[in-house]
Amino acid sequence: MTSRRATAVRDLEPIDLGSEMVFRRLVDAVEDYAIFMLDPRGYIRSWNPGAERIKGYKAAEIIGHHFSKFYPKAELDAGKPELELRTALEAGHYQDEGWRVRKDGSRFWASVVITAVRDEDGRLMGYGKITRDLTDRRRAEQRYRLLIEGVTDYAIFSLDAEGCVTSWNSGAERIKQYSANEIIGQSFSRFYTPEDRAAGLPQKVLATARSEGHYEGEGWRVRKDGTRFWASVVVTAMFDDEGQLSGYSKVTRDITERKQLLDQVHRHAQELEIQVREREATNAELESFSYSVSHDLRAPLRAIEGFATALQEDYGTVLDATASDYLNRISSAALRMNRLVQDLLDYSRLSRIELPSEPVLISSAVDNALGQLDSPEHVQVRVPEGMKVMAHRSTLVQMLYNLISNGLKFHPEGAEPSVEITAEQRGSKVRISVCDNGIGIDPAHHQRIFQVFERLHGADAYPGTGIGLAIVKRGTERMGGAVGLESEPGKGSKFWLELAKA
Ligand code: ADP
Repeated sequence: MTSRRATAVRDLEPIDLGSEMVFRRLVDAVEDYAIFMLDPRGYIRSWNPGAERIKGYKAAEIIGHHFSKFYPKAELDAGKPELELRTALEAGHYQDEGWRVRKDGSRFWASVVITAVRDEDGRLMGYGKITRDLTDRRRAEQRYRLLIEGVTDYAIFSLDAEGCVTSWNSGAERIKQYSANEIIGQSFSRFYTPEDRAAGLPQKVLATARSEGHYEGEGWRVRKDGTRFWASVVVTAMFDDEGQLSGYSKVTRDITERKQLLDQVHRHAQELEIQVREREATNAELESFSYSVSHDLRAPLRAIEGFATALQEDYGTVLDATASDYLNRISSAALRMNRLVQDLLDYSRLSRIELPSEPVLISSAVDNALGQLDSPEHVQVRVPEGMKVMAHRSTLVQMLYNLISNGLKFHPEGAEPSVEITAEQRGSKVRISVCDNGIGIDPAHHQRIFQVFERLHGADAYPGTGIGLAIVKRGTERMGGAVGLESEPGKGSKFWLELAKA
């Protein structure tokens, strides 16, 4: 290959570009450029196919006419054609872009180069003129410019290689408050806060854009009136065909509102977290307090109960009726208090101990609960045979006992209580319901009664401690389940709890 090319180069005869024929052929082959000659006064002396295509005249129609024919009226009035020739004459050549007129009167955007042509003695022979039709490019540029200029939500502007503003759209004016006249030519660093300027951030942003191609970031920026806004910024470096940095394009968005909203959400979340932590700490404190109080109460309680019994047994015969009545009251108060302490201990133990779940046969848990009741004959059990839930067995029994005993307890005086226990599968869960024909509960209290000590009745009407449902709720939740209630006054109640099916 190498040797053949070497031979070929050696074989080449030089071509004389100055030859009239060669030059004419070259010019005649060009269609994208209008190339023609003017005499020293501006009259057209030659015409190529490119000129015919672009301007619409045939050679015969136009040769001999003055080149000012191609200029729109405003430019003629301004003396543009003469000015161009004069400049070309003085400087050697003239270059410009502007509107020109075709034969049919339509306009095109022309890129024009005029060169003064002199003979060997330096006498002016005329002018060479090369014109290119850049209408399409100009339209595209203009469309693009209009598009950018019309954008109001984004500040879109460009910087030169030194960081001075070279273009400015209406979004930039809206967001940063400077008009194009005020800001073009100024350094973009004035958009930064004094702190950021001192830290050299503007230069760092440009350096990153230069080395990485672009820079993206968020931060405070300063408006003309000195107020600040939170900006989302993208800076892109622009390079020319030779790879030289020609400047930067910058797109800035004012996202202050979004930032404020996010900050607020963040602040709320933090506050909430602190509150939750405080509450958890208080709860834990309260629980350990109530646990130790309950625990410590048992000993003196036992003493009261024991001495009351001893008094009754040893001195019952010498006590009169009133003293005996007082003694009975002491005993039953001690009993009630014992119950309360036991319930409290049960409740606080529920959150202290592990509750490992295992498959539990519902019917057997119900049986265990019924075994602890005084009058299980009022309870109907309709639980599918063999149905199991994942539960901590003794806790489930306790919860069922609480629900069933409530169902038997809260009914109008004299009425026969009736409780029904059912179980049904719901997807991967099982819902166990305890329905009664009792007094019912106003929906306004449905949430409240699951809290500790929340009772809707005095101890005279219905005895109790107000802890039973709290145990049901905490127990189910600790087993990953849920509790609920359907009830209205006078229409009975249906308590349910849902646990994972085993
Ligand atoms: P206790 O039964 O010891 O009072 P609970 O926590 O079990 O405490 O119940 C809280 C309150 O909810 C009861 O005092 C009662 O007012 C109401 N309640 C519970 N179960 C029923 C029910 N089946 N029917 C009507 N009211 C009920």
